Amino acid sequence: MSDSIIEVHDLHKTYREGLFVRKQVNALRGVTLEVPRGCIFGLLGPNGAGKTTLIKVLLGLVKRSSGGGSLLGRPLGDRVGRMKIGYLPEHHRFPRHLTGNAAMIYYGGLSGLSRREVLHKRPALLERVGLSKWGQTPVHKYSKGMQQRLGIAQALLHNPELLVLDEPTDGVDPVGRADVRRLLKELQQEGTTIFLNSHQLQEIELVCDQAAILAAGRVQKLGTIEEITKQPSARMEFVLQG
Ligand code: ATP
Repeated sequence: MSDSIIEVHDLHKTYREGLFVRKQVNALRGVTLEVPRGCIFGLLGPNGAGKTTLIKVLLGLVKRSSGGGSLLGRPLGDRVGRMKIGYLPEHHRFPRHLTGNAAMIYYGGLSGLSRREVLHKRPALLERVGLSKWGQTPVHKYSKGMQQRLGIAQALLHNPELLVLDEPTDGVDPVGRADVRRLLKELQQEGTTIFLNSHQLQEIELVCDQAAILAAGRVQKLGTIEEITKQPSARMEFVLQG
């Protein structure tokens, strides 16, 4: 089996907008990267760099314009591969009226799990993310960090090999961010590979082993976190682009 959990080469995505005046947005312009199994991989870039588009193409949520690759050893877009991925989208919002317990059942159902399966897995997962005492509480009373941890718990319901998190600490306070980082490190130690999207350089530095810097749809830098962040030029370029 390959050591890479994600491999993409020369990936392009062009959005086309407008009925009368056709406008094109080249969101990905030839992205090539590899994510080793077992690592926490950071995708870093300023707003509009193409990070969310890359995640959506990987997950088959939007169609690529050209290029190819594989995910968990299967071709991009393959449904079986998708089943082994846990996903927390950007700006994820739980329905306000749901309690933490009910949210797990709701999202478990969306992932194809029976109520019985969710009930079996839920206590350990809520414990895992430090929310076991909060299951009966409506989600709108959770802090942003707690909501993100619940989001990670729901993404783990089907025991994914790969966890894809789109800006999981965006809008989360410093204590909540540290909690999320600690959780990601623990999940990695248990064998989960994590693909983490962020526009915060410090976040990536603190938690990732490897990273890519994306800007205007192209990979600008790719390597270990030391290679990426210890070069003053890389740091300066990112700050300027951000
Ligand atoms: P952010 O950090 O702000 O979420 P991002 O790096 O995730 O940014 P994308 O959301 O992938 O970037 O957007 C990349 C480019 O594609 C942007 O110019 C954006 O406006 C454009 N774009 C994204 N989604 C669509 C869409 N559905 N239709 C048209 N253009 C889009």
